[in-house]
Amino acid sequence: MKQQIICSTCGTYYPFTSFPDSCTICSDERQYIPDGGQLWTMPEDLHQKHSIKLNKITEHLYEFEINPTFAIGQRALLVLSERGNVLWDCIPMLDELTIEFIKSKGGLSAIGFSHPHFYSNMNDWAETFNCPIYIHENDAEHVMVKGKHVQFWKGDEVTLWEGMRLILIGGHFAGSSVLHVPFLSNQGSLICGDTLFLSPSKKHFSVVWSSPNRMPLPLSEMSRIKERFDSIPFDAFYGYIKTQNLTKDVKKVFEESMNRYFL
Ligand SMILES: [Zn+2]
Ligand SMILES: [Zn+2]
Repeated sequence: MKQQIICSTCGTYYPFTSFPDSCTICSDERQYIPDGGQLWTMPEDLHQKHSIKLNKITEHLYEFEINPTFAIGQRALLVLSERGNVLWDCIPMLDELTIEFIKSKGGLSAIGFSHPHFYSNMNDWAETFNCPIYIHENDAEHVMVKGKHVQFWKGDEVTLWEGMRLILIGGHFAGSSVLHVPFLSNQGSLICGDTLFLSPSKKHFSVVWSSPNRMPLPLSEMSRIKERFDSIPFDAFYGYIKTQNLTKDVKKVFEESMNRYFL
């Protein structure tokens, strides 16, 4: 693989020959450049200081996270399905143990993304498993390196297989999307990234333009997004970090959370 450099704040990979003065993703008003300025690291350093932790959530759902935490602490979720496994979002690191594990489960048939804060080293994952990367076309401008596996999808939703759907929500990014998996729970599970943000209390969902910068969305957007989620059946939720799992009263928590905006 070609030499690359990584933004330490968000985990986005750039070709070593053409990386910008500051990370394009972090320069956006939804992210931030840390005090003291842009920080970069190299893949070799990352591998020396960190490892990938694998956790089983259910029989057909696993999570990968970087230990100790790197970048925004994101996790990647692996959905096992008989007709092909799907990885939802990426962590900015890939090692031999992880590759072996995924191969032992049948490899990857697709990688899907919630939004640009998780693209990181997506081209490395896609090349390793020779599978397409699905990104909504609304977020095409945020792809820093468009490798040969990247496919931009259009419209409100796309069905993969076994009823799994990529669903466009918008809000945080114009292309913010979720993966709906019907076979993980009775009414279906939302694999969500931070398209919905579950609070630490697990009693509130928020939808925001920027989480780190505490920037809200206009009420008209909140109303549109609420309607969008109202049309999707789900009784389990898995967000962008490992503490964001909710499998009880999910729709109730969602309804109560959204109603706060319209009192
Ligand atoms: Zn960055
Ligand atoms: Zn984000």
